[in-house]
Parts: sequence; structure tokens; C-alpha cells
Amino acid sequence: MWSSRYTVEDCRVVAISTLKKQEIFYDGAYGIISWGTTPYQNQAELIIKLGTNGYIRFRYGIGCDEDRVIFDYSIHLTTTSCYFGGVRYWFMCNCGKRVGAVYLPPNARYFACRHCYGLTYNSRSVNRRSSFYSFIKLFNGDEKAEKLREEITRPYYRGLPTKKLRRLYKLDQENAAYINLLTTREGL
Ligand SMILES: [Zn+2]
Repeated sequence: MWSSRYTVEDCRVVAISTLKKQEIFYDGAYGIISWGTTPYQNQAELIIKLGTNGYIRFRYGIGCDEDRVIFDYSIHLTTTSCYFGGVRYWFMCNCGKRVGAVYLPPNARYFACRHCYGLTYNSRSVNRRSSFYSFIKLFNGDEKAEKLREEITRPYYRGLPTKKLRRLYKLDQENAAYINLLTTREGL
């Protein structure tokens, strides 16, 4: 079991919502995602394949010079349908969990979900005005929305949206607002 002394802010993160906002989330997309300013140590190449059997292929190196090891593997994608139409993509982590983001903690080698690494959000230490605060709100909100989406067996009653569906609408709207907030700020 991985020690849970790390929080999500210690990690490199690949989030589907961020890729979407950067407009590199489409079938056949190729992009380089980077964290911080040191080249090689802090970047990964991503190749995105959508549709049935969709995946994101990760390619990155860890270590310097002769100790450098190249990692090249894929994480499968899965979809859920949106009440607003279309589908929503998720990572299918090796542990079987459907997640919006995967993390690479310091000294780890593979991206996996925050449950796999036992990561917590260090939200108390985070300034509410920082972009990271929005990031935490977004992922908490996303998880809540996803749980609710699974619970809804009857979205409408007598032609009107049920209480749970209305709550889901509200959560989705809040999450969308946080995504907008994130993209207007630097540092993610
Ligand atoms: Zn996992």
C-alpha cells in the first residue's frame, strides 16, 4: 500500500476536463503536457484515442542521463451519457474506478487515480483564491455529480425533473463554472 503522505497538489496530474479546455481532447490528438519549467523531467507526451476502446497513451521519462527510464503505456477511457446530450469521458483506472483525473506522485512511476495512491486534498492549506482551490472544488464536485448520476433511476416524474435530477443540474452547472474559472487562471 502506498504511503498517503502525499496530497494531490504534490502530484503531476492529467485531468480530462483540463485537456478538453485546452482543446486537445479529440480522437487522434497528440499533445505534450508539462508541469513546472524543467524540460524532460516534467513533461509527458499524450496520444488520445476516443470512441469504442478509447484510451490515452502516456509516454514520459523518469530520471536523468543513464538512469533515465522511458514509460509508455495506455489508460483506457470509458463514457457515461450526459443528460445534456452527448457523452462524457472518464479514465478507467486499473483499480476499476472511473475517474476524471490521474496522478503521478513524487517517486511513483505510473499515473493512477487518487484512490490508488491514497491521495488527499490538502484543502485547508489552500488559499481560496488560488487556482488550486478551484481545482479541488471541481474534482469534489465531479465525484459528487457522478455518484448522483448513478443513483438516479427515474430522472422525470409526471414530466417534471425529480429532486435528484435538479440537484444534478445544479452540480453540473457549478462544475462548469469552476472549469471556466480554472481556464482563466495560470498555473494548472
Ligand atoms: Zn485507481
